[in-house]
Amino acid sequence: MQLDITTLLIVTFVLTVMVGILFLFAWRQQRETPALLIWGLAHLLGALGSAGLALRGLIPDSLSIVLANAAILTGYGLIWSGVEAFEGRRFRPLLAFGGALVWLALCCLPAFYAAIGARVVVASALAAAYCTASALALRAGRAEPLPSRTVTALVLAAYAACYALRIPAAVLVPFRETRNPLQSGWVTGLCFAAMLFTLAIAFGFIALVKERAEHRQRIAASTDGLTGVANRRAFVAEAEARLARGEPVALLLFDLDHFKAVNDTHGHAVGDAVLVAFCALARALMPEAVIGRLGGEEFACLIADDGPAAVLARAERVRGAFAAVALPELPELRLAVSAGVARAAGGAFDTLMRRADNALYAAKRAGRDRVVAAPLPRAA
Ligand code: GH3
Ligand code: MG
Ligand code: MG
Repeated sequence: MQLDITTLLIVTFVLTVMVGILFLFAWRQQRETPALLIWGLAHLLGALGSAGLALRGLIPDSLSIVLANAAILTGYGLIWSGVEAFEGRRFRPLLAFGGALVWLALCCLPAFYAAIGARVVVASALAAAYCTASALALRAGRAEPLPSRTVTALVLAAYAACYALRIPAAVLVPFRETRNPLQSGWVTGLCFAAMLFTLAIAFGFIALVKERAEHRQRIAASTDGLTGVANRRAFVAEAEARLARGEPVALLLFDLDHFKAVNDTHGHAVGDAVLVAFCALARALMPEAVIGRLGGEEFACLIADDGPAAVLARAERVRGAFAAVALPELPELRLAVSAGVARAAGGAFDTLMRRADNALYAAKRAGRDRVVAAPLPRAA
């Protein structure tokens, strides 16, 4: 199959401009994602660069070689910067534009400028470095589970490999300085790869932005905004799922004591801080627990049932640690929590909840600041 380089470059140009504009439109809708703006500018610069390459022979070499490659390298620098921004890191102009600057500086050396092989090696190495850095930056953020993360990193890595392979090829098979050196198999192949890469990366980046928005919405829908623990709906769903699997679980129901008085005496902001502190403490003491805010100052913890004494001891530790909280700036602040504990392996969540709630009520009636275990249900 014969691929005409001029046609390919024109198609690459049009495609890259379209993708760039697509990113800018996406950014207009979602200003809080600067990566979209950076990727848009990257693609527009890349398009400008490929136009410069396409016009080789028709415009001065200083434009079609020096500036066109500088634009393309800036494009790669911005692709990397976009990934960095997507991962929440700040813009680093020296690194983003460093590749293009190195290229421009080298082009000032007549010996370098005259050696097409050297030019290919440097431009390819810089492009490969940016693509590799982008792939690694995406991989580094994998704690955030986005389905398109790995595949986009792989596309970037494959493109980096493509550029890296061009280095030994340029050394082993020296370019002949024909009238138009673009008319070589390597350039055609890379141009074709660039076109596919542009498309694949555009899909990847747009998918990543969409997946992040969905992931955050899912988390927000299942999380309590103040404390960061599960909200009632998410907690109940998790507890029901475990009971349905027949797992032996213990439900620890906590209700802060005289919390209204904490609010009334110290203000709502202190009350909020106490709620956050209680959750942090419960999380620290029971890292494996599912913790949920059932409402107001009432929290539930679901843990694996490791026997009545162990479960009671865990609730007791949380109660004791909370009672020991002392804030130097509020010496008169006294904190306490009551807890009701119930164990089950299977059955309805409502039943388990009612038993834990009755135990909690008993703890309150008995004077608060204590843990009460629900009696085992009578065998049916
Ligand atoms: P008891 O020992 O019987 O549990 O008494 P209590 O004062 O803790 O219980 P009560 O139900 O009378 O009061 C609960 C208080 O919790 C009232 C409400 O203003 C407060 N509250 C509920 N949600 C929040 C919140 O998000 N932030 C703050 N600061 N207070 C809250
Ligand atoms: Mg209370
Ligand atoms: Mg309450």
